[in-house]
Amino acid sequence: MAGRMGGGSTKRTESGAGLTAHAAPETGQRSLAGTKRLLVSIHDVGPRSEGAVDRLRDLLSRHVPEDRQALLVVPDHWAEAPLVPGSPFAARLRGWAETGADIFVHGWFHKDLATHDGFGARLKAQHMTAGEGEFLGLDHSTALDRMERGRALIEGITGRAVTGFIAPAWLYGDGAKQALGDAGFALAEDHWKVWQPASGRVLVRGPVLTWASRSRARIASSLFAARALAPVLSASKVARIGVHPGDVGVPAILASIDRSVGRLMRSHVPSRYRDLAA
Ligand SMILES: [Zn+2]
Repeated sequence: MAGRMGGGSTKRTESGAGLTAHAAPETGQRSLAGTKRLLVSIHDVGPRSEGAVDRLRDLLSRHVPEDRQALLVVPDHWAEAPLVPGSPFAARLRGWAETGADIFVHGWFHKDLATHDGFGARLKAQHMTAGEGEFLGLDHSTALDRMERGRALIEGITGRAVTGFIAPAWLYGDGAKQALGDAGFALAEDHWKVWQPASGRVLVRGPVLTWASRSRARIASSLFAARALAPVLSASKVARIGVHPGDVGVPAILASIDRSVGRLMRSHVPSRYRDLAA
């Protein structure tokens, strides 16, 4: 699959299929048993990323209705960008939630402020996530406390239940995994699956397509991965795509997101996470 770099093979013509999916987003009425679903999400939503989130929403909206774009909200990004009830940003978040879009609690600080015991854990935390794996090193009670406060803050603003919890960088330590169930979140997600914490039932398996913008090497490898994963995602019953505010600074990533989402819209129906269990 890695050898299939040429873009030529992806141009399958199913003319109009994308339009059909757009014009008739699932209503819950017709049977979706055989339907392939596309889940798109915007990570790291908060007051500091507002401009970038707007750009990502505009880009995704070329293909996916706004109410099918999940938003992963960070309560206080790096302890520098608190989500404040009553603020203009909070009003926008409420408006987005009112469209019916999935809202997830996405950590609290996002950044990993814990100190990790052991070389392996430190290495994993620093090299895999650039220090963004907040929930990798938290003990159970700290994880539970941040989850519950995050949910209370966000639900207080939106006036509706969050869809679930997704840890920063999709990384969960043992304490966080346990706390998910105790906090009563309906859904959680990592890089390889979506599951129901209460029962442990896995609803979706397969990699999420995402891009990294931190360095040239990361950009290059994520552009490569987007091409290499295209046939895998096209064949998936549920395909997931996650985008980040940093993506808007890299035109090649924006183009890759546009291509990838557009391509999947030919075969998949944009959906909500919370409809997965139905
Ligand atoms: Zn994140």
